[in-house]
Amino acid sequence: NPGGNVRVVVRVRGFLPREIERGAKCLVEMNPINQATTLHAPNDLDPANSRSKMRKIVDDKKFTFDKSFWSHDTADEHYAHQEDVYDSLGEEFLDHNFEGYHTCIFAYGQTGSGKSYTMMGTKDQPGLIPRTCEDLFQRIEEAQEETPNTSYSVHVSYFEVYNEHVRDLLVPVHANQAPHYLKIRESPTEGPYVKDLTDAPVKNYSEIMRYMNMGDASRTTASTKMNDTSSRSHSVFTIMLKSIRHDMLTDETTERVARIRLVDLAGSERAKATEATGARLREGSNINKSLTTLGRVIAALADPKTSRPGKKSKDVVPFRDSILTWLLKDSLGGNSKTAMIACVAPSDYDETLSTLRYADQAKKIRTRAIRNEDLVS
Ligand code: ADP
Ligand code: MG
Repeated sequence: NPGGNVRVVVRVRGFLPREIERGAKCLVEMNPINQATTLHAPNDLDPANSRSKMRKIVDDKKFTFDKSFWSHDTADEHYAHQEDVYDSLGEEFLDHNFEGYHTCIFAYGQTGSGKSYTMMGTKDQPGLIPRTCEDLFQRIEEAQEETPNTSYSVHVSYFEVYNEHVRDLLVPVHANQAPHYLKIRESPTEGPYVKDLTDAPVKNYSEIMRYMNMGDASRTTASTKMNDTSSRSHSVFTIMLKSIRHDMLTDETTERVARIRLVDLAGSERAKATEATGARLREGSNINKSLTTLGRVIAALADPKTSRPGKKSKDVVPFRDSILTWLLKDSLGGNSKTAMIACVAPSDYDETLSTLRYADQAKKIRTRAIRNEDLVS
């Protein structure tokens, strides 16, 4: 069955010091048995502090996702560690890659909800990207011993979409030098791609980590009222895995190609929430252009009327309305197995509800992954 729905998981993080300071309550509840996630109305849990006469009455909202990662309380037996996220999602997606399928995992959520922690992690708590890289090269090493007739090659690229511009994160930027933006092209066979993007060959884990860290250091960050170090860009880390297998019996050579895309989106909060002004606001509205278009693309793909097979979806799904959705076209509506990690903060009702609704809609999207395998001789 080549068709499959976008896998949607949700992860809630623990309190940050500023949330503990203001005595925040955790509004998110997860059921480890049935994967249900409930968002409680703020005044529900804290009647003493209720402003219910002033605010609109809100109900508890219940959602079910493919997986709910409870990363709120480290002392809890159900606490989901970085390793648990990798084991239940990353590992399976890497299996698909070795079978020749393209995959994409993207993290969505407001600034400070744990997207970068989940994708990149920290030195002590590595996230999905470094774990995927480590497992990738470990598997290649094992495979080369077990099946010497198969050879592997790995390439990496890393870019960000910032203000509707694409910037290569593997090209060092020098102070006082104007940023160099790249153009997008669309090939009939490969789909949309970034022209002249660095595509670095890597032989082992330490080489790929060097590129990962270099690109990560180069990501554009700017301060807003909401989060000093929040990244206002969408970053796309891509690994291309190619394997060439020679069958001794039939004397045939087959090639498999898999693209592993790992995406850390910019914060999904609305520009007004950050009270940004001037340059920040312009930035915010462009970031929103990619994110609002992503929302429209997801809505169109989730709607059975527009996504029916045979229907020319390119006419109704506005992929080309933003840089991000154009480049992710394949991952969202085509040849890819795709997962979304919805990251939520524990005590932010409005933003969390908006993220959970977004995620709920993404569950309805079906992609059509095919094995990318060719007989080369
Ligand atoms: P985002 O990328 O969505 O803006 P971050 O990943 O930077 O958010 O997370 C915000 C803060 O919360 C960081 O200090 C990060 O280390 C911390 N954090 C996020 N998720 C977790 C988690 N599951 N466990 C521990 N700390 C987390
Ligand atoms: Mg981040």
